[in-house]
Amino acid sequence: VLVTGLAACGSSTKTADKAAAGGGSGSAAGALVGVTMPTRSSERWIHDGDNVKAGLEKLGYKVDLEYANNDIPTQANQIENQISMGAKVLIIASIDGTALSNQLQEAHDKGIKVISYDRLLMKSPNVDYYASFDNYKVGVQQATSLLVGLGFKKEDGSDVSPAPAGPFNIEVFAGSPDDNNAPFFFKGAMDTLKPFLDSGKLVVKSGETDFKTVAILRWDPATAQKRMEDLITKTYSASTKVQGVLSPYDGLSIGILSALKSAGYGTAGQPYPIVTGQDAEVASVKSIIAGEQYATVWKDTRKLATLAVSMADEVLKGQTVQTNSTDYNNGSKVVPTEVLDFETVYKDNYQKVLVDSGYYTAAQLQ
Ligand code: BGC
Repeated sequence: VLVTGLAACGSSTKTADKAAAGGGSGSAAGALVGVTMPTRSSERWIHDGDNVKAGLEKLGYKVDLEYANNDIPTQANQIENQISMGAKVLIIASIDGTALSNQLQEAHDKGIKVISYDRLLMKSPNVDYYASFDNYKVGVQQATSLLVGLGFKKEDGSDVSPAPAGPFNIEVFAGSPDDNNAPFFFKGAMDTLKPFLDSGKLVVKSGETDFKTVAILRWDPATAQKRMEDLITKTYSASTKVQGVLSPYDGLSIGILSALKSAGYGTAGQPYPIVTGQDAEVASVKSIIAGEQYATVWKDTRKLATLAVSMADEVLKGQTVQTNSTDYNNGSKVVPTEVLDFETVYKDNYQKVLVDSGYYTAAQLQ
């Protein structure tokens, strides 16, 4: 995990150049930046926190990095503490995007700038910038990987011709309803699956396709496992099998695969369905290598950390912050946003994408 953090600094030419040019000097020098992350229960946030902290420290800033164990009041307290400690910038990856309005107001009143990290802070005018990935496109890619696994598409997104006859039975899952990313992922995915559902080549056998019905609160793997168990009991049988599962996050995919395994999937006669994912967490990459999970969307947390660090540095120095998207309205304003691109990891490219890029060592994936 830490290897990634260190690699992140080395790979950040943008911030490295600034450091060489005297970054962190002037009134911004040594300023405190408060960084709050949702949980350590998922690796990606550990990578994010380590990378942001290392990047800021490299520029001479002080950092208070906190994790809230997915507990909303804990995160609110952490932010209040950072405000009292004199933080000049807050970088926040929220648990519930709507729950921090009071803290954001307090920050604004004290002239503290707020950068929303990966997840958009909602319903508050006091959000200065947003650093994320193209979240709609993440969903498009998740659905595309499902279509690749079922034989409709190639990894480059082009159609396979002739298309398989189908129909294939699938089930769909969405992320936490209090995370603004979750509906973006889900919409991107469902828009991509729509023509296949409309033509009857794909069938959501349970009939459950409404976001609220399929959303998994707090992205909890055990809740996803339970929902998959219930779906298997209710909808499937010895003669009717599920052939694809849209899962928006690796932790959920692991829970879904466990439910499937308990129900007898994962054998030569009854293979696992095509299961998607997100974050390229170690357990899921191993599962992909073992031929269980089919794919995962990998968002390079090193790049996101570098972006957030640059934003914080620019804000502290009163420089213009570059943004590339006006797609993110938080219900109170359009938040100036910079989104990054990402890649999809399959069994046949994990080596190139994850190992050759230095994100993981080959040993970590054994
Ligand atoms: C992030 C995903 C992550 C999910 C669960 C989302 O906000 O964008 O990368 O899989 O939260 O932690």
